[in-house]
Amino acid sequence: MFKSSEIIGKAEKYLITSMVKKIEPVVISEASGALIRDVDGREYIDCFAGISVVNLGHCHPEVVEAAFSQARKLVHACTYVYYIPVVAELAERLAQLVPIAPPGPPKTFFGNSGAEANECALKLARKFTKKYEFIALMCSFHGRTLGTLSVTGQSGRRRYDMGPYLPGVSFAFPPYCYRCPFGRAYPDCDLLCARSIRDVIEYSTGKGVAAFIAEPVLGEGGIIPAPPEYFKIVKEILDEYGILLIIDEVQTGFGRTGKLFAIEHYGVKPDIVTMAKGIADGFPISACTVRGDIGEAFEPGDHLSTFGGNPVSAAAALANINVMLREGISEKAAVKGEYFMKRLNELKERYRIIGDVRGKGLMIGVELVRDQVKKTPAVDEAGRVRDLCRERGLLIGSGGVKGNVLRIQPPLVITMEQIDKALSILESAIREVC
Ligand code: PMP
Repeated sequence: MFKSSEIIGKAEKYLITSMVKKIEPVVISEASGALIRDVDGREYIDCFAGISVVNLGHCHPEVVEAAFSQARKLVHACTYVYYIPVVAELAERLAQLVPIAPPGPPKTFFGNSGAEANECALKLARKFTKKYEFIALMCSFHGRTLGTLSVTGQSGRRRYDMGPYLPGVSFAFPPYCYRCPFGRAYPDCDLLCARSIRDVIEYSTGKGVAAFIAEPVLGEGGIIPAPPEYFKIVKEILDEYGILLIIDEVQTGFGRTGKLFAIEHYGVKPDIVTMAKGIADGFPISACTVRGDIGEAFEPGDHLSTFGGNPVSAAAALANINVMLREGISEKAAVKGEYFMKRLNELKERYRIIGDVRGKGLMIGVELVRDQVKKTPAVDEAGRVRDLCRERGLLIGSGGVKGNVLRIQPPLVITMEQIDKALSILESAIREVC
């Protein structure tokens, strides 16, 4: 009898399954770098990194050591009641690194999750502008709380039977070039997706918009990178109307796209940046970093999170950031990502089920379709490819608005040999499904 079946039985009995119909049948016992081992001794190449979290690799020794050494001194005393050295230090580090519009210095609120960082961003934007409306993108994802679901552009996640959601939210067409909502092809499209934000403001809002919130690469929506000019055009329009720009770097931050922050690809400085996932290589902490003047907007009592800015996680985050910068992890991710995508594009030439290969750095999406012309989403096939990969020792994600996008988001420390092995497993799975 496998050890795993006993644990799966217990989990199915006692855990609330809230995300997928069935959890992947992998019972993880330990992991390091880009390798995961299960309780029965099987080894997997991890190309999902705990949903794009362990960017520096599983259990990076420097990060783990920093957390241990902090835990021996202080685990919790509440950052919002007392001053704690590592927490102040981390806020200072983020002020130096996160691209934020002036005036400075940027200030940070720490929470525990991506949703919590975005909740803070939405509340602060309202408090600062004294307006309440928001604009978000169709296909976006910003979290599972009622506030963040309200600005999430996916009906599959924002179902009616858990609503109603916040009023005053308008959705703009996404910069989804493969399925351009305007039927155009980049770069001859005049960036209508960006320019149409003006129409959303003019026709869909009451002109009381506090902020526009967007991911630089839509993650859960199907790994959809905005075209290079997108955010410059959007920011100009927002500035005209006095609307703040909130950039959700929860999934794209900390080297994932080949730069420390994905918005650096676009040459604009947001008013607010939210971060989580990759910030501490797996330790739970999130951050909402904002323009200095916006950071003064909260009054006493407006916002708090008991566990937010936990010192152990803050120490892990500092170590994580130090290693990333010292070892040029973002730059290396850019090179590995380019190689990965080049090889995937070669597969696209051979297998008609691959409709689109896209991404930035090591945030890569492979959209599967039944028909290259009609682009009919190959949903069951995507699930089957993911399952076959797992059976052959490779963990990938599948997602996107329709569920037909393979998600490849490994720890950024994945080796070239592991990438080659992952590609050959992926090809064998795609070949079988075809
Ligand atoms: N924003 C983005 C862009 C995300 O990808 C996610 C998580 N997938 C979130 C917010 C929510 O993060 P969390 O699950 O930590 O609340």
